[in-house]
Amino acid sequence: MTLRLGNYESVIGLEVHAELATAAKIFCGCSAAFGAAPNRHTCPVCLGMPGMLPVLNRRVVEFAVRAGLATHCRIAPVSRWARKNYFYPDLCKGYQISQYELPICEAGWIDVPTENGTKRVRLTRIHMEEDTGKNIHDARSNASLVDFNRSGVPLLEIVSEPDMTHPAEAGAYLRTLRSILQYLQICDGNMEEGSFRCDANVSVRPRGATTLGTKVEIKNMNSFRAVERAIDYELERQIELIQDGGRVVQETRLYDPDRDETRSMRSKEEAHDYRYFPDPDLPPLVIPDSFVDEVRRTLPELPDARRRRFVEDLGLPEYDAEVLTARRDVADYFEAVVAAHRNAKAASNWVMGDVLRLVREHKLDDALVIERWPVAAADLGALIALIDDGTISGKIAKTVFEEMLATGAAPATIVERRGLVQVSDEGAIAAAIDQVLGANAAKVAEYRGGKEKLFGFFVGQVMKATGGKANPALVNVLLRAKLEG
Ligand code: ADP
Ligand code: ZN
Ligand code: MG
Repeated sequence: MTLRLGNYESVIGLEVHAELATAAKIFCGCSAAFGAAPNRHTCPVCLGMPGMLPVLNRRVVEFAVRAGLATHCRIAPVSRWARKNYFYPDLCKGYQISQYELPICEAGWIDVPTENGTKRVRLTRIHMEEDTGKNIHDARSNASLVDFNRSGVPLLEIVSEPDMTHPAEAGAYLRTLRSILQYLQICDGNMEEGSFRCDANVSVRPRGATTLGTKVEIKNMNSFRAVERAIDYELERQIELIQDGGRVVQETRLYDPDRDETRSMRSKEEAHDYRYFPDPDLPPLVIPDSFVDEVRRTLPELPDARRRRFVEDLGLPEYDAEVLTARRDVADYFEAVVAAHRNAKAASNWVMGDVLRLVREHKLDDALVIERWPVAAADLGALIALIDDGTISGKIAKTVFEEMLATGAAPATIVERRGLVQVSDEGAIAAAIDQVLGANAAKVAEYRGGKEKLFGFFVGQVMKATGGKANPALVNVLLRAKLEG
């Protein structure tokens, strides 16, 4: 990032829309699944036919309470549904059912790990609403089509206070929030499919000022990176504008990822433009304490707590714990490896290195696919055990791992079939060393003459001569003895 703030300070507040992973939509029984043929998942309710009545999906309330509890919000004993009125072709009723004055959750916070330590970001509110349909602009027929499959899919809108000050902090907030929702199993967090969307509110003000500057809302970012870049661009634009004697106008701007800039879309509407009013079709939502308690009892261990446990109970470095707990499925996998063989740091190295690298290479990041990972956690644990008990070297283990990936065979089977058992027989290793030193007399002389860097070369040659099977620690000891003796 090229951010130059000079005498200004930046203020960022984020609004996230998270699609809930319920089976059915919020006010009808239609499937909420993504990816069906257009308009398959529709009925008179979610098509907004006059006279159709919404019936609230209880799971949506349960999911909202889960999110609220996990983010330290107050759960409102009574909240209300409101109509947000506006016209757009993807909004067939002419209004969206949302919550306005009395949202289900208020006044929470999440702790966000950043480069400069933990940052607490406050949440203003979390409310429930229905998603709209989707307009598709079809270039071939030069027509606009509407797909109502998404109409009525449940959403949580999660609004932060303007507590963030840097694009990277906004990115970290989003990653943390997404991780929490994924742990709660209420949202799959897929940004490309639009199940986790973010609008960024950005303003600048002179350093030390006590009032906020005029904000601009940015839309159309479909990755964390895009959010960070869009905010970065926007901050620079606002500062330049002010320095040139101009004034920021409150508006909505669209981010263009190809040109890496934001462009004005429309002047910002005010809340009163929507003519919010309580929805007469839905009674106030009453949530008894007993329901909240019941949901609280089913909350899983959240990333924060899990991270602390990995550090305190398993002795992992902070960094490892943070990487491993970012995704619940990765953390589960890691814990299963440790359950098979208790060497947490080795398990962490394998999972953070080989496993996550492959997940990235195969672009599996966004889907929760680690359950289908070709190497079972128990097998990875068994592989680490083979290293720890001296059966194979760390280097051979990489070869075994590759073969586990390719064939799905157990590590012990591969080691035996391919004769990879580590050679710890001193006689055999000494013989290999003699052979290597004999064949490289000139280099031996150089080494003895002071060129100590050659030690690594000899180790390499001995490993090669033994097909990589020699116990490397033993090679080091014996080689040094021979060269220096
Ligand atoms: P609106 O009425 O435009 O929706 P809100 O006050 O409800 O505005 O805030 C919407 C989002 O914008 C929140 O995330 C809030 O933190 C953020 N926000 C509000 N004022 C500012 C500001 N001056 N600069 C940056 N973000 C802001
Ligand atoms: Zn429907
Ligand atoms: Mg608002």
